[in-house]
Amino acid sequence: MRKIILAGNWKMHKNQAESLDFVQAFKPEISNTDETREIVFCVPFTSLTIMSKNLHGSKIRLGAQNIHWADEGAYTGEISGSMLTEIGVNYVVVGHSERRQYFGETDKTVNLRLKAAQKYGIIPILCVGETKAQRDAEETESIIINQLQQDLVDVDQSSLVIAYEPIWAIGSGDTCESKEANRVIGVIRQQLDNKNVTIQYGGSVKPNNIDEIMAQPEIDGVLVGGASLDPSNFARIVNYQ
Ligand code: PEP
Repeated sequence: MRKIILAGNWKMHKNQAESLDFVQAFKPEISNTDETREIVFCVPFTSLTIMSKNLHGSKIRLGAQNIHWADEGAYTGEISGSMLTEIGVNYVVVGHSERRQYFGETDKTVNLRLKAAQKYGIIPILCVGETKAQRDAEETESIIINQLQQDLVDVDQSSLVIAYEPIWAIGSGDTCESKEANRVIGVIRQQLDNKNVTIQYGGSVKPNNIDEIMAQPEIDGVLVGGASLDPSNFARIVNYQ
């Protein structure tokens, strides 16, 4: 049985006070949300502790946006698995295109981060996806298959979420057509040993397209950037019909 996971990625948005305001406004909006829908907020490191305290006892899970592969050490600016689990982090985003594009993340380091997360009992959300140029050159499938082959070496597929995020659709308002997202996610699933991995779609998911996206049979959830910053927008996404 594939789990439905609706995750917000706040990126570098919201200080602690803003995070708290969000949670207070959001919680009442999900009082009737089906228990089978897992809700996750992947927040900046500085908001993890206050979020953990305020999400305790709720059905919302906590996510981070990065994890280093070493247990500890001289890695300025990085964060370890034990630092995250101490706070109660359940998920971590790994290999987001912004990390790959701006911070030199490679498939090799993505693989190391995935294994580190699993070592600490944190479920990684692995992001894969193609650029516009790669799509136009009809390389979408080969790019994604290559990413998966490298990223998933020795990764436990029973504790993994994958997000298909076409890079051209992220933050652009240019959502991938839902049937096309469904098709690519089907291709991703074919590559996996465990066919029950939750595979999300990400890229300009909004209240006005969530119902159509979640109606697709291969799509098990969404990873949402911009629209997760507003409590009522994200509530509408979580409460998709
Ligand atoms: C993302 O950050 O993973 C993302 C999909 O962003 P947005 O929803 O803003 O396109």
